[in-house]
Amino acid sequence: MPPSPPDDLPGAPGASGAPSASDPPDRPVADGARPPASRDDHDRTATATATDRSEPVGGMFDVVVVGAGPAGASAARAAARAGATVCLLERAELPRYKTCGGGLVGLSVDHAGVDPSRLTRASVDQLTIAIDGRLTRTRRRPGRPMLSMVMRAEFDQALVESARAAGAVIRTGTHVTGIREHDAGAGRDIAAGRVADGHITDSHAIDDHAIDDHVVVAVRGGPDVVARVVVGADGTSGRVGAYVGVRLDQVDVGLEGEFPVDAAMARRWAGRMLIDLGPVPGSYAWLFPKGEILTVGVIGSRDDGGALRSYYADMVRRLGLDGVTPLHDSGHLTRVRAAGSPLRRGRVLVAGDAAGLLDPWTREGISFALRSGRLAGEAAARVAAGEPRALDDYPRQVEAVLGPEMDAGREVQAVFVRHPGLLYTFLAAVPGGFGLFGRIVAGQTTVANQLRRPGVRTLTAAITR
Ligand SMILES: Cc1cc2nc3c(=O)[nH]c(=O)nc-3n(C[C@H](O)[C@H](O)[C@H](O)COP(=O)(O)OP(=O)(O)OC[C@H]3O[C@@H](n4cnc5c(N)ncnc54)[C@H](O)[C@@H]3O)c2cc1C
Repeated sequence: MPPSPPDDLPGAPGASGAPSASDPPDRPVADGARPPASRDDHDRTATATATDRSEPVGGMFDVVVVGAGPAGASAARAAARAGATVCLLERAELPRYKTCGGGLVGLSVDHAGVDPSRLTRASVDQLTIAIDGRLTRTRRRPGRPMLSMVMRAEFDQALVESARAAGAVIRTGTHVTGIREHDAGAGRDIAAGRVADGHITDSHAIDDHAIDDHVVVAVRGGPDVVARVVVGADGTSGRVGAYVGVRLDQVDVGLEGEFPVDAAMARRWAGRMLIDLGPVPGSYAWLFPKGEILTVGVIGSRDDGGALRSYYADMVRRLGLDGVTPLHDSGHLTRVRAAGSPLRRGRVLVAGDAAGLLDPWTREGISFALRSGRLAGEAAARVAAGEPRALDDYPRQVEAVLGPEMDAGREVQAVFVRHPGLLYTFLAAVPGGFGLFGRIVAGQTTVANQLRRPGVRTLTAAITR
């Protein structure tokens, strides 16, 4: 039985540019130097078929979740555990690749709700820090790991299996193409099927009352699926975020490769990650060790795409990996919501990347996806249980739990953009600096808590003035 996520998400009562549904995810790196070693998600879905073939396609559920990443799986599991009927729709076949470092911070491990030990490829207790390949310094916390390294395909699959075990129906190879909320007019629009045994079977006789106060989820090539509540967890390029009207104030691009290495190279990086502060303001690169696979990536503003491609190529060369054919080589956007951006429209909630919930500084997003997904799933299940006002709580809870962390990440990112040397000095040379970083990554404290300390706020304000 997998462990349950901790019950410490406070249910506190009452947090530009719209995301485009046309931005494809996980694009191959467009540097022309290497052919992509993997197909992207769109390629996969072109030939995809549903995993649960025994399940009828289309139907009515209390909760439909769109997207089976950490946010969607977490939402589906939470809603199913609370007793709702749940359908999780995912356009890819699982397991699917996701461009991601696969670094689990302590909060991600705490909130995963699956046993991380069998998924962890490596634990990291050492940090090598550098500035654009120079001033390399290594710091250690022997026996006190900060970060757990996973392959996202395996991690996400385990989360989905835990949602299935909780009772959620999983439909893969199912591409959601639109959302419509039922009202009097829309009810006639979607009079596209007869409800029989909870499923739409005939396309001309749906009973308006059967779908009153429901959301219709349109699926490519298949009948609509109907839900009382929809949770959009379809990532940075998701349609549901666009439907809800999510507004963004930071859009970054990450470029990443997964490199198979020999035993000697694997030993060199065992238990040690590299963070390199980049030449482009606000950018950095990483090497995350996963045994005989090294994940190398860079991230920075989408506006600096050309410079980031050069930076990525430099990193790969400096690390001696330019002769290695990567297993995957791709790019993906990360997007940070603007303060006050909507998290809900009617009976539709958004969670994780679809809502722009991630740390603006590190671009760590898995812990944000797991936590917001769970809150969304729980709120959705309460509606099904006869508490229609439960959806009002979701935005307030997200603001209360994740808002301070995002605000703190914005502040640190502002310092980092202007004074990358300060961050380097803090980690490489200031007594206690690396220890504090390790405690933050391990989840023993947060940046938000640290910024509230006397003197720290004044100092940050002075630096960013
Ligand atoms: C280069 C890079 C490195 C990163 N490294 C880290 C890291 O080391 N640690 C960390 O914590 N975070 C990292 N992140 C951020 C992290 O990857 C995301 O924050 C996290 O994946 C968000 O999870 P999610 O469930 O919201 O979205 P996703 O994981 O993107 O899942 C969305 C799902 O929705 C599906 N979907 C999309 N559209 C549709 C549709 N129309 N119909 C049906 N399904 C659909 C997709 O196929 C996908 O499976 C990184 C990001 C990047 C770009």
